[in-house]
Amino acid sequence: MTLVIKGGRLLCPERGTVEEGDVLCRDGLIEAVGPGVAAGAPAGAEVFDARGLLVVPGLIDMHVHLRDPGLEYKEDIVSGTRAAAAGGFTTVACMPNTSPVVDHAAMVSYIVGRARQVGVVNVLPIGAVTKGLAGKELAEIGDMSQAGIVGISDDGQPVWNGELMRTALQYSSMYGIPVIAHSEDRHLAEEGQMHYGAWSAVLGLRGIPAVAEAAMIARDCMLVELTGGRLHVAHVSTELSLSVIAWARARGIAVTCEVTPHHLTLTDEEVARTGYDTSTKVNPPLRGPADVEAMRKGLREGFIEAIGSDHAPHSRDDKDVEYNFAANGVIGLETTVPVLLTEIVGKGHADLVTVVRAMTLGPARILGLERKGRLAAGMDADLAILDLDHPWRIDPAAFKSKSRNTPFAGWEVRGLAAATVVAGRVVWRDGQICV
Ligand SMILES: [Zn+2]
Repeated sequence: MTLVIKGGRLLCPERGTVEEGDVLCRDGLIEAVGPGVAAGAPAGAEVFDARGLLVVPGLIDMHVHLRDPGLEYKEDIVSGTRAAAAGGFTTVACMPNTSPVVDHAAMVSYIVGRARQVGVVNVLPIGAVTKGLAGKELAEIGDMSQAGIVGISDDGQPVWNGELMRTALQYSSMYGIPVIAHSEDRHLAEEGQMHYGAWSAVLGLRGIPAVAEAAMIARDCMLVELTGGRLHVAHVSTELSLSVIAWARARGIAVTCEVTPHHLTLTDEEVARTGYDTSTKVNPPLRGPADVEAMRKGLREGFIEAIGSDHAPHSRDDKDVEYNFAANGVIGLETTVPVLLTEIVGKGHADLVTVVRAMTLGPARILGLERKGRLAAGMDADLAILDLDHPWRIDPAAFKSKSRNTPFAGWEVRGLAAATVVAGRVVWRDGQICV
């Protein structure tokens, strides 16, 4: 099977270049990239006219909750991978807080098998650190590693017990996979509804201070220094956390981090502005303006290597309740590209290449995906073809996701995924899933 993407602007996140050219895909791999490549395509090849469009490596979202198995009323592998394709994502790494929890190899095999059957993009499972995410004993990390996990995480929960985290990092070093930390001191964060600051006082909601995140990051960085292994900090949200990571890196500690689109674009004031709209309730919470500015700077300077949406689908029942009782989380697969293009690239907070790199090469390196994240011969033929100019309005009713919990509903945006290619097959084009 041969596909030629013809006449697009090709963005190479590795070299940081954007130049006119073609991409030739054959049998699931990129065969050639560059000007004039289309001329050498075999007769009968499928041709995609990419004039006026930007061709980038398939986007990778390393932080997604697919809710499958057990919570399919929120999302499942069918709807979640369609939402991913619609957003330009060709690979998602899914978190293990399903029901049952992904804490042993059979669960990993279920996800891998189910995704192959009904998924339209690549799905890479993340295994739990502890059995049942209960923080008591380690999950079957070795077996899960054999079965194909790309990392371990108790996401949704911190790993409370420092000794367990220490052992998890030893496994990380043994199996070459990162420990992905949801960094939160639960005593400091207890009953917290939003960021601790002026707005939490005004609104009368209990606040979660920045130190709840930064303190756990500090502990885990020191454990990496003790043990080896690799730490990846999920959804970093405060300036204090970035300072801790900078300190750790200065000591030679292997720590990477990711930021979400909502922590790059929204402050805690959004809770007040929307009149306690529960679509602003997320963990870690939306932070203050100085934190948001620090996230943008961290992304712009390449200090934050990855953007992960923390796509966290919830049903109406989970969200249409009083703020104190609402579930934490927002969905992101179908809003990340337009929101970042409009609010971050469009307003000059970070350039296009840097933002694309944080959704391609950055996560590919963190997860050890050697054939993904680059636009080069021999790579998997996963591509996102972006229309940078298309103006539209975000309408949750049109989402492929089963859930609607987004703080970006109604936003006027510019830019979208015109097409998504997975293993050399067009899976999303002109607003339609085409498999
Ligand atoms: Zn989390």
